[in-house]
Amino acid sequence: MAEAAEVLGALVKLQKIDTFIHNLNVEKEAISKQILLKNAEFENAKLGFDEKKKATDDLKKQKAGIELEIKQKDVDIKAKEANSHMVKTNDQFKLMQLEVERDKQVKRKLEDDEIIIMEKEEVGIKVMKEAEKDYKEKEILIKNQIKALETEISLKDSAIAGEAANRAAAIEGVKKIDKVIIDRYEKILKNRNGLAVAELIKNEKGSVSCGGCKLTVRAQAMIEVRKKDKIYSCDNCARIWVVTETEQE
Ligand SMILES: [Zn+2]
Repeated sequence: MAEAAEVLGALVKLQKIDTFIHNLNVEKEAISKQILLKNAEFENAKLGFDEKKKATDDLKKQKAGIELEIKQKDVDIKAKEANSHMVKTNDQFKLMQLEVERDKQVKRKLEDDEIIIMEKEEVGIKVMKEAEKDYKEKEILIKNQIKALETEISLKDSAIAGEAANRAAAIEGVKKIDKVIIDRYEKILKNRNGLAVAELIKNEKGSVSCGGCKLTVRAQAMIEVRKKDKIYSCDNCARIWVVTETEQE
């Protein structure tokens, strides 16, 4: 039947365009994933810097707190010393001296703590500045890489858009011969990962499989599909079967 052969020919043409579009979409998805990874890489570097900055900020706060305590101790000591003339007994004087000495001890301990924090802060700032340099370098690099990837995507979008007219013409080509099969084709295309027309494939051992779902089918199918007397399709994946001329023995 000439009609089936014509329909198959028109469907193969349409599938070629759709495979081209499908591959572009697959490539686009892969690029989008790369963009996500690049963004995550940058976020990670930024996070590394943020953590280090927070650590040095915390040390700065600790240092400011200690400095405040030291100042308060100074005020306390001065107040006690200023009040020494009001002390009447020897015992009271001794007690006052003891308190001042205790304050001075606390102050010395605070000053020692401050030195330790300042040393930590110095190291922290160094580490933070390295992290900052790292993430700022990455920021420039990664943003450029992302821009390049986005350009690739828009080129693929243009290529896909460029196929619209070809696809419409190919659909018309099918409809001219068979008005019904186009809906079936579109449905399979949508449900079967962009492939509605599949080759039957014969391996060296002579066994025949569906090029769509890769399942082995009865060998007789090859002979039937070659006849092009009607539309044959895969029981497993529903794809419409074709055999290309080059595969004929
Ligand atoms: Zn199949």
